Amino acid sequence: MIAHSTIDGVKACDMLKIYCKCGNIVSLDKGMIWTKKNLRKKIECTACRNRRISFDIEYLNGLFDGTLDEALA
Ligand SMILES: [Zn+2]
Repeated sequence: MIAHSTIDGVKACDMLKIYCKCGNIVSLDKGMIWTKKNLRKKIECTACRNRRISFDIEYLNGLFDGTLDEALA
């Protein structure tokens, strides 16, 4: 008997609760944690991920704008 793990068929016992650095609880199934560890990705909650992504975008935008200004000067 082979147990397949699908997105719809995640069992409750396969869910792990991990604290994000901000204190929020992140629910992930074991497969997802394994994947993230393999990819060396940090486990973070949605709020932290959104904050990080928007920070990255702003940083890159600033960098890009600065480069553009230099190129035009
Ligand atoms: Zn967080």
